[in-house]
Amino acid sequence: MLWRLELRRRIKTRAALEKHLKLSPAESRWFEETEKAEKPEKAADGKAAPVFGFLVTPYFLSRAGKEKNDPVRVQCVPDSRELARGPEELRDPLGDAAYTKVPRLVHRCRDRALLLVTDECAVNCRYCFRRHYAGGRRGPIRGSELKNAAAYLKAHHEVHELILSGGDPLTLDDERLFSLIDILREARPGLLLRLSTRIASALPSRVTRRLAQGLGLRQPLWGVIHINHPKELGPECTEALRRLVSAGVPLVSQTVLLRGVNDSEAVLEELFRALARRRVKPYYLFQADLAEGTGHFRAPLARGLEIMKGLRGRLSALALPEYALDLPGGGGKTPLSPSYIKGEEEGFVIFENSEGKEYRYPKE
Ligand SMILES: *Cc1c(COP(=O)(O)O)cnc(C)c1O
Repeated sequence: MLWRLELRRRIKTRAALEKHLKLSPAESRWFEETEKAEKPEKAADGKAAPVFGFLVTPYFLSRAGKEKNDPVRVQCVPDSRELARGPEELRDPLGDAAYTKVPRLVHRCRDRALLLVTDECAVNCRYCFRRHYAGGRRGPIRGSELKNAAAYLKAHHEVHELILSGGDPLTLDDERLFSLIDILREARPGLLLRLSTRIASALPSRVTRRLAQGLGLRQPLWGVIHINHPKELGPECTEALRRLVSAGVPLVSQTVLLRGVNDSEAVLEELFRALARRRVKPYYLFQADLAEGTGHFRAPLARGLEIMKGLRGRLSALALPEYALDLPGGGGKTPLSPSYIKGEEEGFVIFENSEGKEYRYPKE
């Protein structure tokens, strides 16, 4: 399989990366510092390295330009700012640990649960909020862990949706993935599955006809793609999306608001329009989480609200995602929305539309 070969040929070292681009001093410093830090860690048995490793598919890197602030490049090439830890930053920003009911299964919202199917990704995104887990050394979920997760779901009928995430579930091969889904289905027929993946833009060759058809047969199943910039939407990615939707896998997207990548109305407008045209409903735009070493990616909340206000005037609700923050420490997702209600007056609610004009509607 082409995608297997591409996974094996991922770029992991400084030397391999330097064949594709010239490192900036800050990028170069990340490699120097982490090489020093990693050596003593290698001896520690089995524990995930504290350094979130560098890993990218040749395909994803091929979408990047040569400039050091290229929006695809900065998503995958580390730089030394990552080694700085802000005082507000957390090792487990979403508080997954407190809600992990059986290994790999996080149950925080009453009707939804999250299964961390593997800790492997095609690309280690430099702003990753689950960096304490992804890129570790646990590998795919074991048979016994899957059995326990299935038993938990069988005993918890209040769970109506299961999110398959990680890591990236599509780094598993078809047999393993399909059998995992079938085991969960057998435990809970009718359970809605959501498959979260970065694959469409990180490794589009993974979306073979066989994969798309196999997923399409395992309904109800939605695909949730992660994508941040229109440059990621190359023809291969577009074809992967087409295959999935055409095979009967409805798609939505999640985007992280990233400083210097997509913190602009024009970039996000282009991205969301392009997704909607490809039959992908933009679902969430996330305020960046307080993950360690990601401060340089975080745009201020006020900036996000301002962008949303602008986008609301430009985009249909079909193309506009919800702006949301996963509250630090396990508070769950909260919508962040600019308020259009200005106040009340004589039995009327006063609104301000996205152009700043006032309108009224009776209170009762
Ligand atoms: C993000 C997340 C969900 C899903 O939230 P939605 O708002 O339904 O997309 C569910 N469980 C956990 C633990 C999550 O982190």
